[in-house]
Amino acid sequence: MPLALPKTYTYAVPEKLMKKIQIGSRAEVVFGKNKKYAGIIKSVSKEKPSYETKEILSVIDDEPVIYPKQLELWKWISEYYMCSEGEVMAAALPTHLKLSSEAILIYNEDYGDDFSSLDDEEYLLAEALLIKKELKITEVQQVANIIHVYPLIKRLIEKKVCFIWESLTEKYKEKTENFVLLNPEFSSDEMLSKLMDDPAFGLGKAPKQLELLLSFLHLSKTEGEVSHTNLLKKSGATAAQLKGLTDKNILFVEKRNTDRIQSLPKKMDVNFELNASQKKALNEIDIAFENKEVCLIHGVTSSGKTQLYIKQIEKFVGRGKQVLYLLPEITLTAQIIRRLQLYFGGNIAIYHSKFNNNERIEIWNKIKTGELKIILGARSALFLPFKNLGLVVIDEEHDPSFKQQDPAPRYNARDAAVYYASLFNAKVLMGSATPSLESYYNAQKNKYGLVTLTERFGGTELPEIKIIDTKTVAASKKGKVMISPQLKAEIEVALQNDKQVILFQNRRGYSPFLICGTCGFIPQCENCSVTLTLHKYSNKLHCHYCGNTYPKLVSCPACGSVNWKEKSFGTEKIEEELTEDFPNNRIARMDVDAVKGKNAHDTLIKLFEQHRIDILAGTQMVVKGLDFEKVSLVGILDADGLLSFADFRVNERAFQLMEQVSGRAGRKAARGLVLIQASKIDHPVLLFVQQHDYPKFYDFEMEMRKQFFYPPFSRIIRITLKHAVKEVVFDAADVLANSLEKDFANLVGPAAPVVNRIRNMYLMEIFIKLQKDAAHLQLQKKVILNHIDLLKSQKKFRSVVTIPDVDPF
Ligand SMILES: [Zn+2]
Ligand SMILES: [Zn+2]
Repeated sequence: MPLALPKTYTYAVPEKLMKKIQIGSRAEVVFGKNKKYAGIIKSVSKEKPSYETKEILSVIDDEPVIYPKQLELWKWISEYYMCSEGEVMAAALPTHLKLSSEAILIYNEDYGDDFSSLDDEEYLLAEALLIKKELKITEVQQVANIIHVYPLIKRLIEKKVCFIWESLTEKYKEKTENFVLLNPEFSSDEMLSKLMDDPAFGLGKAPKQLELLLSFLHLSKTEGEVSHTNLLKKSGATAAQLKGLTDKNILFVEKRNTDRIQSLPKKMDVNFELNASQKKALNEIDIAFENKEVCLIHGVTSSGKTQLYIKQIEKFVGRGKQVLYLLPEITLTAQIIRRLQLYFGGNIAIYHSKFNNNERIEIWNKIKTGELKIILGARSALFLPFKNLGLVVIDEEHDPSFKQQDPAPRYNARDAAVYYASLFNAKVLMGSATPSLESYYNAQKNKYGLVTLTERFGGTELPEIKIIDTKTVAASKKGKVMISPQLKAEIEVALQNDKQVILFQNRRGYSPFLICGTCGFIPQCENCSVTLTLHKYSNKLHCHYCGNTYPKLVSCPACGSVNWKEKSFGTEKIEEELTEDFPNNRIARMDVDAVKGKNAHDTLIKLFEQHRIDILAGTQMVVKGLDFEKVSLVGILDADGLLSFADFRVNERAFQLMEQVSGRAGRKAARGLVLIQASKIDHPVLLFVQQHDYPKFYDFEMEMRKQFFYPPFSRIIRITLKHAVKEVVFDAADVLANSLEKDFANLVGPAAPVVNRIRNMYLMEIFIKLQKDAAHLQLQKKVILNHIDLLKSQKKFRSVVTIPDVDPF
């Protein structure tokens, strides 16, 4: 059941339903007092459990909705990432397959998130609702951890924190449309020309019918399936003329399910030429796949990795296999799909969370039947019911967004994909210009194949990288240096040459750090331990953790003076300064505030591609994406900011971001230029970026990881504890750490994270470093869960939220 239950649940099968029972079908069951669910039949047993079993009410599906391999994947994810199978199921199934007759609590967005008037129990539930937006009653029971939840729910409804929503019937209705088809008797050219000349059909005397038939043949060749409406529209014929042809049995009309997504002809054409080093790489991939399941392509930026993916995809589809193409973020899919559709036409489709439920279920079904061959998607596409998976492509495999943060399952789609592929004996092709240390380590250890592309496609050199010492830039500037004179001069040069510029700053908003110049007061969020960011568009102070906004302060609440200093800068401020400095150029900003709505990101990319924007300033959104041909200059405005996060992956992440954004500079013909502004100019990571030397960076970083026993030498499990009362979470963390210490030698913490209060919940963290030995890993996870259960069995800690996260980011 799609619930966070520790175990699966057993039901009895009444005699009359015996024949309908199939693994992977949904069954209607009652759980708890009288809540109905659509559960998935996982296994069938003849043994009666020791407890009383209820009967299955009905079997919903004639055909299973998932294959047994999905069940295996769910189980693996739940065991590996320490969550319940029900939580995986809830994430994996599209909404339309998750039937339930039970009441669902929906968060009331109008309530806001000021929970100060709520008591402890109410608070806990309101918090959970704020994050998940909706909860089922049984989930409420788990969150609140009390037996009588109804009075609590009643109180929250009265306070308008949430409302109840009932969903009773299956919502998915297939959409059908009339399609026109040619009588298969005339499918050969020979029979067709006979038909046209045969006086028995009388086409010679009916020129309009002949014209319509020719239109039909043209459309079916160019567009694949021909709908009734489309045929009449494109041919200009009448329904009566079409009826004339169907009466003669030349064409016939059939009612069929339609895609709500525009369908393209199912043709494939991948006849493009690879260059010499790509050909070599393609061959090396084939060799790697002979005896390895996974192959990593380490190719410098714009070395043409996508073309290698395309050639490999064609190979697997040619063998009748399906292909899953995983991308780190849905914002990129629109660009990539445009490119892939050129080669794969209607054989490829996109699956992601921004699609509506009808679109998602249609793709789900087409993957299940094997009709769709190639699917492009972000994380959640992993859960599609592939019939015959042959290849998984993982583009930008290093990207942290492959890992789901909240809620459970906190899985990494890249790693889960490797497991899923193994169930099909399928191959995995990963690629990156800056591989994750984990994947590169696996390649070094010979577990993965490794294919290296050191040349850029078209022979362009990697960009020249110059580091600008911001300390030497005139100290007259108040606060941080935003755009140094050197950078400004280079922007001018680029614009004069009719080129484009990308500027990268990893902070959004106007000023992420305000301080009172008189007394040093710093405005902070009331619910979180973070400094507030000034946003000009709203003219408010924003908390980037809880989303709360506050009016802009005029005078300092501490000393009363009006002397605010802006200590750092975000993308909004950069945009403002650029507009002042380059009034005649077109400037755009790309960050989550500027890019809202389904197509906003894609539109901005298109405008930039078409050179209708001269300077694009943005957060890490500008790091990813396709090649822009006219970008000659990239500016990284604050490298210090990238290198100062309190995380063991800080160097890796900084290297990846800087190397990736540098890769946007210089396409075709001319070498690009990258300017990096930094104050710690001799930081080793900067030097590796300057030399574009991934292997050297890898060696340097691995030395540190080894010394401190960090991944890839160990595995980390992070346990986060949350509670509204600081003392309670501190105590709980101490108790848990003390108890864990008996079984785990490599324990770090308990410690408060850098941001130790979010939405009024205090946080504590415990890190456990484990040996990579897979055999013991499962056992160790069970031990950890036992310790957590032990903690929660103590009355004073029962409302502490505990979140285990395996391989956290
Ligand atoms: Zn002050
Ligand atoms: Zn906040």
